[in-house]
Amino acid sequence: MKGKVYLVGAGPGDYKLLTLKGLECIKKADVIVYDRLANSNYLKEAKSNCEFIYVGKASSNHALPQDDINRVIADKAKEGKIVTRLKGGDPYVFGRGGEEGEVLVSEGIDFEVVPGITSAIGGLCYAGIPITHRDYASSFHVITGHLRDDDKENEELNWNALANNKGTLVFLMGVANLKKISDNLIKEGKDKDTPVALISWATRYNQRVVTSTLENVYETALRENVKPPTLIAVGEVVGLREKLNFFENKPLFGKSIMVTRSRTQSSSLVEKIADLGGNPIEIPTIKIEKIENSTELENEIKNIKEYTYLVLTSKNGVDIFFDKLDEMGLDSRSLSNLKVCAIGSATAKAIKTRGINADIVPKKFVAEYLYEELKPILNENDKVLMPRAKNARDFLVNKISEICEVKEVHTYETVVDTSKQEEVLDVLNQDDINYITFASSSTVSNFVEIIGNENIHKLENIKVISIGPVTSATAKELNINVYKESEEATIDSMINTIIEDRD
Ligand code: SAH
Repeated sequence: MKGKVYLVGAGPGDYKLLTLKGLECIKKADVIVYDRLANSNYLKEAKSNCEFIYVGKASSNHALPQDDINRVIADKAKEGKIVTRLKGGDPYVFGRGGEEGEVLVSEGIDFEVVPGITSAIGGLCYAGIPITHRDYASSFHVITGHLRDDDKENEELNWNALANNKGTLVFLMGVANLKKISDNLIKEGKDKDTPVALISWATRYNQRVVTSTLENVYETALRENVKPPTLIAVGEVVGLREKLNFFENKPLFGKSIMVTRSRTQSSSLVEKIADLGGNPIEIPTIKIEKIENSTELENEIKNIKEYTYLVLTSKNGVDIFFDKLDEMGLDSRSLSNLKVCAIGSATAKAIKTRGINADIVPKKFVAEYLYEELKPILNENDKVLMPRAKNARDFLVNKISEICEVKEVHTYETVVDTSKQEEVLDVLNQDDINYITFASSSTVSNFVEIIGNENIHKLENIKVISIGPVTSATAKELNINVYKESEEATIDSMINTIIEDRD
């Protein structure tokens, strides 16, 4: 087996600013070597047995010296592994990707580079600054601000040329040398009133931008306590920020929101928060446990020809059912005599990936709507199979059994995931959490069970958003103050409640 190394640009930070090819390399990696600027959420996309190696900061003080990084990458590849080296931005823009590539070539190791969106361009963009513009800048220059003390860098950089062209200047790794940079530019003739933007943690929810002029920028940075990673953008294009600042104007920009739902259900809320510019922090309070060692489902599948309807109510239910079919050496053809019903579009989608288009998908994601659709078409000769969660509501089973035979098989249950206590408390101990959402009564009680009564006071400075009256009542019983309740019991309404609360 031959190893291979992918040098992958992880983009500037916004989770979705990664190339399809980059994502593919993350998914197939046996080893991922990453540093501080690569969004660590990408690691969740890796294989479950993937090894992660953190090699520390991208700027001056490396947690691991470059030679050691090169060594690790090369050695892992020589063991026959697929190594994905994740680097912030683009690997060849001050990422030392070139050096890593040279080492790999000299050792005969197969490698590929996947370019990424560099912070030098993408970071400015999210700060509302186009790096070029017909009226203001016809070129741009990306410069290292990591200057040496021995004046050697000053020879390397032609300050006179930089000061005297009209293009946009972008300094990376420059915060520590801001004074030197601005002094040099002014000394060589750049207008001291040239606008400057300092963009920290660009494209992330905690992006912070301060603007100034070349003359005052050093003082501004001290006053505003600007820290790396920061981009220094110099040029007239900085002025466009007022108009083009789409990112910071997003409705949830700068808000950190804890989302307490089971991992399998929360993705739509998490994704919506991120798309609206917020920082979703997912807290898995529930986990799904398959009911093992039960032959019940197998028995019903053996008798599947007796049934006329199959009702599936969740993606988990679909996965467990079809995996069992597969395990028994069967496939979707054995369901050909059945009508298949799905509650929820995610459920229908999961069924589709198993090669079946659900016959009935009620408009709303609730049992009542499915019952309304089934009531007129079912008769006493029908027989309905419902493989689903142990703790599910009785409504559907009770109502259908008034018409015909219905067999409920418990294939999984949701249980409180108390293993997460430490992780959840760590999040609560950060002081910048703005909201916490509860989308059902059980998530409130599960949450309290996980953190423990003695830690409820940690919610004091966090605004609690409840999805509706039932959830709010449970919260009150458990001594949690609900800040606001959403108008309708939907995820979208819950998000609107937060948006309307802004300022
Ligand atoms: N290869 C990277 C740059 C690596 S050098 C790229 O193409 O973006 C590291 C420097 O990049 C930091 O010191 C900082 O100046 C800049 N940088 C990278 N990501 C940044 C971000 N999200 N916000 C602000 N600056 C960033």
